[in-house]
Order: sequence, then C-alpha cells, then structure tokens
Amino acid sequence: MSTASAWQPAAGHVVPGDVSLLRRVGVQTQRMATDCRNVPHYCLKYCVAVLAMFGLLQVWQAGGDGPIPAFHGLRPAAKLDPFRTSHPQCVFSQTTAQARWQGLTPALAILSEVNPEVAAWVRQTHQDGKLHFSRRAKGGANPFGQLAKYDAIRGELTVTSGLFAENDGTIAAVLCHEYRHSRQRIPKTMVYALSFLWRAGGDSAIIENDALLYEQEANLAIFGQYQER
Ligand SMILES: [Zn+2]
Repeated sequence: MSTASAWQPAAGHVVPGDVSLLRRVGVQTQRMATDCRNVPHYCLKYCVAVLAMFGLLQVWQAGGDGPIPAFHGLRPAAKLDPFRTSHPQCVFSQTTAQARWQGLTPALAILSEVNPEVAAWVRQTHQDGKLHFSRRAKGGANPFGQLAKYDAIRGELTVTSGLFAENDGTIAAVLCHEYRHSRQRIPKTMVYALSFLWRAGGDSAIIENDALLYEQEANLAIFGQYQER
C-alpha cells in the first residue's frame, strides 16, 4: 500500500541539497495555506467589531446634539452694517491678539442681535483662554483656506487672520459655524474618526453638514433683510 507520507524521492534522482530545498518549500507552502485559511476569519472578526462599534455609535448619536439656538433676523433698525469690513488691518501678522479680539467686536454685536448664545459662547471661550488667533488653521484638508477652526478634543477655537478680510456679517456667520461644531457630541466625532477606515482623509460630511447648514441659516438671518440694497 502506498501513502503520501510514505513517499520518498527516488534515490539517484534527487541530491540531498534538493531534498532540504523541497522540504523548505513544503513548509513555506503549508504556512501560507494556514495564513490564507486565517485571513477570512480575521477579516470577519475585524468587520464585525467595526460594524458593532459603528452601530453602537449610531444609537448613541440618535439622541442628536441637543437643543441648538435658533436665529432672529437682523433688523436694519439695529443700525449694524453686516456688509462693512471693520478691521481689515487685523490680517497683518504684526497685529496683537488683543487688537484682533477687539476686531471681532462688530461681529459680536451682530451675533448679540441674531443669536446671543453664540456671542456668549465666543466671549466665554475667550475668557477661558481657549480662543486663539493664528495666521492659519492647523491640520484639516485645506489649512490655508480655513477662516476658523474648532478643536473638539481641546475645546479650542482658532480664528485665522484671513477672517478679518471678510465683512462683519460673514465673520459672525463663520463663528456660528464653529459654534455648531462645538455642540456636536462625541459619537459624531468618533464616527468621523472611523470613516478614515473606508475613505482617505475621512468623510468630513459627517461633521461638516450640520455646521454648514447652521452657517447658511446665520447668513440668511444676518443678510436676509438687506437683500434690497
Ligand atoms: Zn466646519
């Protein structure tokens, strides 16, 4: 009876060096086969873990971001001009942080009319030492094009010098955008972090959609009654 294990290379046809080479190839093939068998198991475990985490985060997130303050239209009677660029000199790098904070005053006056909660948040962030002025925002897909950035982990707001080239109404709307980011709860940030698994650079729409919509609402509240100008 002949079995596979009993098979030996015929003497005279294979030299000893070839036998050890064949054995090594055999061992390697066996290892590769074991690895290949383990790959689907590993992938399955990995996918189930990611999906379970994703599902839990979605359930956690279902509660939403809590109550978000609504806007009041800026009345022309308030005598605030949202089209005015009050402090364009603040774009220059030698401007002090104190001067830049003062440069936000007209935008904060507009916010006090259209959304006092956002104005209070900006003032509180400044009071807590978490409002920074910078030449450009750190990180992000387009750090040079960003006018402001909210760091959800540190709770810090960065206002770039480029923001001062905008008119006061736009500055106020951008601050509303960052305020909306500050109200996003941790699960949304975690889902965004998970999105890096399936998209290079992450799926920014997960966190940006709310903020862009809120900024749009701010623009309508600030400029809506000035359309006839
Ligand atoms: Zn944003």
